[in-house]
Amino acid sequence: MQPAHSGPNPPARPSLVWFREDLRIDDHPALAAAAQAGQVCAVYILEEGADLGRPLGGALKWWLHHSLTSLQANLAEHGIELILLRGDTRQLIPTLAKSLGAESVHWNRRYYAWSRPVDAAIKADLTGMGVQVGTHKAYVLTEPWEIKTGSGGNFKVFTPFFRAAQSSCDAWAELAAPTPPLTGCSGAAVSSEKLEDWDLLPIAPDWSGGLSQTWQPGEVGAHKRLKRFIDKALLGYGDGRNIPSKPATSFLSPHLHFGEISIRRVWNAARAAMRANPALQADGQVFLSELGWREFSTQLIYHYEDFPQESWKEAFRSFPWKNDSSALRAWQRGQTGYPIVDAGMRQLWKTGWMHNRVRMIVASFLVKHLLQDWRAGEAWFWDTLVDADVANNAAGWQWVAGCGADAAPYFRIFNPMSQGEKFDPDGNYVRTWVPELAKLPNKYLHRPFEAPTEILRLSGVHLGRTYPLPIVNHEKGRKQALDALASLKQTHSGDLV
Ligand SMILES: Cc1cc2nc3c(=O)[nH]c(=O)nc-3n(C[C@H](O)[C@H](O)[C@H](O)COP(=O)(O)OP(=O)(O)OC[C@H]3O[C@@H](n4cnc5c(N)ncnc54)[C@H](O)[C@@H]3O)c2cc1C
Repeated sequence: MQPAHSGPNPPARPSLVWFREDLRIDDHPALAAAAQAGQVCAVYILEEGADLGRPLGGALKWWLHHSLTSLQANLAEHGIELILLRGDTRQLIPTLAKSLGAESVHWNRRYYAWSRPVDAAIKADLTGMGVQVGTHKAYVLTEPWEIKTGSGGNFKVFTPFFRAAQSSCDAWAELAAPTPPLTGCSGAAVSSEKLEDWDLLPIAPDWSGGLSQTWQPGEVGAHKRLKRFIDKALLGYGDGRNIPSKPATSFLSPHLHFGEISIRRVWNAARAAMRANPALQADGQVFLSELGWREFSTQLIYHYEDFPQESWKEAFRSFPWKNDSSALRAWQRGQTGYPIVDAGMRQLWKTGWMHNRVRMIVASFLVKHLLQDWRAGEAWFWDTLVDADVANNAAGWQWVAGCGADAAPYFRIFNPMSQGEKFDPDGNYVRTWVPELAKLPNKYLHRPFEAPTEILRLSGVHLGRTYPLPIVNHEKGRKQALDALASLKQTHSGDLV
């Protein structure tokens, strides 16, 4: 009788890693699990289908192109081809697993309302085919279901959430470990699409020059940003993070959004620096709490599926927004006549990023002074931000509009002049992004419409010609916003503040 093992060994079956918002090799739980099992095949799918998520904005597409280029090169160094496919993942992943003869498929989890049923359906299909599935925590430090209130509910207020989450963040972050040695699989049975054919880069016109000058998408760029931040900006971050003219923040948001660096690496780097230098304690804690806001936003979209597109406070669903396309357009183009607002909107257009303080100011201006629906602003950010993120973007807008969880009350209306004077006192930020005002003295830089005619003339500013007059008077805009809130209060006794 032939012994069962006498023949040649059957070829080892590979594991397939499905890359999504985790375009890196370092500290990648799905990749590490696949590598542990043996040969690794890798795929990225450009998801296309009405129920397969929100189409990417222009800046996200630009980033994705470069990030995939970088990941392809990194994987190739390990002999792994990144297979590129486009279409419906529900068909493509099982078909690919079959063609490759994969023993298992691994991916890192996502938390969108649309993606959860899709992932569950794919998992069920694969399991039915006898393919093992591994799903992993990677995008966050705390899974949305891990942190609960004392009574088992979901947190709606950030501070107690983060107090409860911080020790779990520490515990999970410590697990970051090097990926085991990688061995590629033979993907010969599958032909990859070409990245160039995806048309992710803008051509006519090509508006991406400012993005290329500002960013280095990919893992190397992400780690450089982290190192620069820890070495040069963590000390003083607590105050510095409010001054838009200073490079006092980490600029990690697009890298974190695309998963080019793991949140564990970022958290651990800050923690290690804080341990090594006690003078970093206070600033480090502020930075950790910003990472905590990212966790908080993710758990909001997980628990409240409508959160990305509906006001979280129900009363705000009948807010009397105005639909004024010319006001919206002036805001989008940085032509409102309020220098700090215009500077922020132009920084966004040129670089795909805007400083957090200025995001709050421009958002407040849109939803309060101009009474435009927060979703119009959110959509513009979605198209223009390189870090556009379903959770953080909606949470940011709803926070400013007063309709989100733990939001700033709607009646708190930023004064764009005094915000500019407080956070850009020497005018460096406005002078960089609104150069036509550069010669104005600081006294009038944030309120050019109050400058005497002679000063305007000497500064080469012709209001209404070289720089717009305010599209809305501040006091009038403020009153309109408060009146709108008062009208809502008459019809809703619910939670408005
Ligand atoms: C109206 C509005 C819209 C926003 N849209 C987005 C968005 O689409 N994508 C996005 O990543 N952030 C968004 N934010 C949050 C914040 O402005 C950016 O994360 C931050 O400016 C990114 O710069 P940084 O990486 O230098 O931040 P740092 O200050 O260095 O913070 C480190 C990291 O913490 C996270 N973080 C910081 N602040 C917040 C916050 N308020 N909420 C959630 N996470 C935060 C980000 O991942 C960030 O990279 C928005 C804020 C507002 C007010």
